[in-house]
Amino acid sequence: MNEKLKNLKVKVKELEEKGLLSKIENSLFELKELIIKENKERVLCGMTDICAECGKEGKVCCGSAIEFKYSEQLLIINILLGTNFPDEPEFYDMCFFLTSSGCLLFARDTFCINFICDRIRDKIPIDRLKRLTEIEGLHLQLQFKIEQFLKQSIDHILFFHNDNGMNFSCT
Ligand code: SF4
Ligand code: SF4
Repeated sequence: MNEKLKNLKVKVKELEEKGLLSKIENSLFELKELIIKENKERVLCGMTDICAECGKEGKVCCGSAIEFKYSEQLLIINILLGTNFPDEPEFYDMCFFLTSSGCLLFARDTFCINFICDRIRDKIPIDRLKRLTEIEGLHLQLQFKIEQFLKQSIDHILFFHNDNGMNFSCT
């Protein structure tokens, strides 16, 4: 994972040099705001505490190798949002991104966000879950657009080594 993250940081630099990151600056800011709102809602509805309790019991659902399901683009979004990645995983038999204070990623993938276990379903009222799901939906929609933009940009850099005429947009 470290090698992959190192390579991605090189790609981030290339994207920056080509002036492509400025095109998603506003979208990244908007994404960050949505994720902050979403995380607040998770705290308010009690999900954060339930998951923390589950973690203490060693029953957390963040299994080994889930980190490999993350796309390059989503990891780049996390780099751009300032996520600090460790050199080594905290738990060798779990997801690389799991720490004792929870998931270290700022922008998580659909499969992590949409997972609702029985414990959550039993303890959190449906209307609270619905409110959370609405914010998550907005987050995932925008995140997907940024990922698509990054994919196009990286492909362009890799295959054409030329940024002439690039007019990608994620808005
Ligand atoms: S989603 Fe469920 S299984 Fe996963 S950490 Fe939270 S409480 Fe535990
Ligand atoms: S929520 Fe974070 S730590 Fe858990 S599986 Fe997803 S990426 Fe890994």
